[in-house]
Amino acid sequence: MSDHGPYRDAATEACPTCATPLVIAGPGELRPCPRGCGEWAAAALVAERWGSAIDIDGDPRLRWRSGRTPAPCIICKRPMRNTVHPSWTVHHCHGHGAWFETDARARFEQQFAAIIGQHRAERLEEAQMLELVTAAVAGSPAAVRGLANRLLELERALRRLRESGVPV
Ligand SMILES: [Zn+2]
Ligand SMILES: [Zn+2]
Repeated sequence: MSDHGPYRDAATEACPTCATPLVIAGPGELRPCPRGCGEWAAAALVAERWGSAIDIDGDPRLRWRSGRTPAPCIICKRPMRNTVHPSWTVHHCHGHGAWFETDARARFEQQFAAIIGQHRAERLEEAQMLELVTAAVAGSPAAVRGLANRLLELERALRRLRESGVPV
């Protein structure tokens, strides 16, 4: 197996803190360090579960005061971007994934619950719209009607907004 690309050997991917190989998990699952240093989430998982919430910055003074250098990405080995919050730190490589130190993920999900909830609702909406469009393209009359109704609702809502003086 190659060290690069989709066929890299997941068994060699090690904890950025203690270098122990990370627990191997299926796609869409977190990969913890067996020694408890933290958890790795691949880029697809980050996009699916948390979206841009992962990059909400902590207090930059904390990062400076902690004097901590960002952990290297487990795949490309480049330093990740770290966001340091009062009780947790997460490191993010845009191309490959995010590293949550120790119990950072639970704290992050708790602190940004509203934003993450919104992100998941949007993902669900996207999936449902895609399903509707796919069915309409495949020729389902019900899906075509459903899609037409959604567009009409949108047009009517826009008209109401314009009539109430909102610039849209
Ligand atoms: Zn470790
Ligand atoms: Zn990387």
